Amino acid sequence: MFKSVLLSLMTMSAVFVATSQAHGHIPTGSTETIPVLADLNLLQKVGAPILFKDQQINLAYSYLTPQAQAQFSQLAHQAGKCGGFEMVPDVGSNMKNVQFVMQNLKQRLARDYNYAKMPFRALALPQRPEIVEALKMPKEENLQQWVGWLSSFPSRYNKATDPNVHVLQLKQKLEQVLASSGRAGSVDLVDHQSTRQKSIRLRLVGATHPEEIIVMGGHLDSINMSGGNAPGADDNASGSANLLEALRVILTLPKTARTLEFMWYAGEESGLLGSAEIAKAYKAQKANVIGVLQLDMTLFPGAGEMVLGSMTDFTSAWMRDLLVQINQNYLGVKIAEDRCGYGCSDHASWYRQGYPTLMPFEATMRTMNPNIHSTRDTVTPKMSWSHSIVYTKIAIALAMELGNNTTLQQPY
Ligand SMILES: [Zn+2]
Repeated sequence: MFKSVLLSLMTMSAVFVATSQAHGHIPTGSTETIPVLADLNLLQKVGAPILFKDQQINLAYSYLTPQAQAQFSQLAHQAGKCGGFEMVPDVGSNMKNVQFVMQNLKQRLARDYNYAKMPFRALALPQRPEIVEALKMPKEENLQQWVGWLSSFPSRYNKATDPNVHVLQLKQKLEQVLASSGRAGSVDLVDHQSTRQKSIRLRLVGATHPEEIIVMGGHLDSINMSGGNAPGADDNASGSANLLEALRVILTLPKTARTLEFMWYAGEESGLLGSAEIAKAYKAQKANVIGVLQLDMTLFPGAGEMVLGSMTDFTSAWMRDLLVQINQNYLGVKIAEDRCGYGCSDHASWYRQGYPTLMPFEATMRTMNPNIHSTRDTVTPKMSWSHSIVYTKIAIALAMELGNNTTLQQPY
């Protein structure tokens, strides 16, 4: 496993393998042959036709039959990755588009790599007393309540008969939270093309720099690979709850200079569906997103209590530096860098649109919760609320630092 972006030249392929099927797989029995971008080596192993390849980033464009999809997921899983390929539009014989995507990705990775290579990175942030105070406020019992409520729904699957039962109820609760805080803000549902499930966005407009946006999100949906109940306590009621508790604290604080947007995405388990559409729309509107935090699975301390994973692929070195600074100034936990090997959560959707992203994770990929995507993803004694509350603190510190320090911006 890679420990830092300095090795990213070889991880480039991993970076692009699949912004879909995060954490998940194509439910068994897929019937379609699909066009994909994926790891060249794995495609060759399943004997897929290579229509376009880039050996430098070990990425290729191909078609996968249903059998090859299953074989591919199996191979990816053996390699410690889940799912592992990105379904892309069928470009037929026009490879120009694929070439453009790969070129674009390489440029961005090179900029990130050059920044990470810089011996003296610019980011040195002072400890701020108002942040120290705010980080005393998060309560573990609130996390427990939110996770208990969200995982009490039989399933939050985006392809369920009615995939929005929990979405509409959470929207109502958010409107009440906002109303009782007396703060100006808005809660809206975001409709999608690729799923009937809706995402939720709560926006707190900035006082002086309203056009500059900090996005803090996590997916609200759940999945069970064998089709039964999907409580999804860790994946991802935990990250959703971290955001809800961070919101409660932030609503008691002075308005930030920049706009804060909280997002609970739809359809992540079926291919980052909600976040991909939202990130693409923001890009099309030329939205000035300063940074994106993704919280997806924070409850299972597989690598040890207070040992946080920090994903290095589909994230920006500058945002990871920000996490290191926040940790040094306020948290004092251990950060273990790791990589998913593919776009394993919604941060990849934003990364693909060129926005700076960060994904602190509950553990490393090999020590993460083995019970996700099943009926067993419930709250067990192996879960830790004191571990999970740290991710709420990261969200609050990030919102306050990046939300108020308007000189702070990714320098590349
Ligand atoms: Zn997840």
